[in-house]
Amino acid sequence: MESLTIGVFLVFGENDLWKLERARALGFTSAQMVRWPTGYFTGQEREDFKRALKQSGLQVTTVFCAYEGESYESREAVKRTIGLVPRETRAVRLAETRKIADFAAELGAPRIAAHIGIVPEDPADPVYGEVAETMKQVCDYCQGLGLEMALETGQETAACLRRLIGDVGRKNLKVNFDPANMIAYGSGKPLEALDLLGEYVVGVHCKDYHSPKEEGKFGGEARLGEGDVNIEAVIGKLWSLGYRGPLTIEREIYGEQQWADFAAAKALLEEIRAKVLRGSAP
Ligand code: MG
Repeated sequence: MESLTIGVFLVFGENDLWKLERARALGFTSAQMVRWPTGYFTGQEREDFKRALKQSGLQVTTVFCAYEGESYESREAVKRTIGLVPRETRAVRLAETRKIADFAAELGAPRIAAHIGIVPEDPADPVYGEVAETMKQVCDYCQGLGLEMALETGQETAACLRRLIGDVGRKNLKVNFDPANMIAYGSGKPLEALDLLGEYVVGVHCKDYHSPKEEGKFGGEARLGEGDVNIEAVIGKLWSLGYRGPLTIEREIYGEQQWADFAAAKALLEEIRAKVLRGSAP
């Protein structure tokens, strides 16, 4: 298997299976995916998806979870609505997570992943313990299907995620490293975060953000290479820590500009990848 292959994160809504073919035509060989806003493929849609995926030749490396009622509108909304942290929706979302894992296994994907929400930094917070217990259940279900479960980074500190991984204590609990989220949420420096999380990283999102200018606000998303992430340094460090998996481009806009930015990001990553493979990376 080639090292650091370049992939793309595809968001599926309604009637957009063409994205698989278009990604392949741009030269991508792998993709991460999510169904958004909510609901996973069932019935005929599921069969259609599987057929289109097979025809495209793309390999799905990660299926992301998305849940009914989530909002990324503000930091406050994220805290209240995202992932498995909010109590009111946790049981329903745990059941949904199992369905998503079933779907991933059917596709032959090696893992699922999720923003599990803003995990409390204080391990004495009762919600922290509840989230750890929930993650045990998710990991055990995934283990039964031969899948890994990856935590998307960025909404809490690396130290918090590492503690959680230790407390959950399941070998298939991993990390999908998104350095741009750490910049966007102001939750730490990506290179320092890799010192704590590097050994668990099984996927990376190549995305860029500007640092927030005001407390409690997000910085704005930027085209890859134009924000404050320094993706070249991140990839160089991942390589030095032994990461050989795919580099998956994520761009949080839609329409033609997103596809243009995918192509530009791919060209940038090809340069970085060539440098890293030659051993001249920072
Ligand atoms: Mg991401």
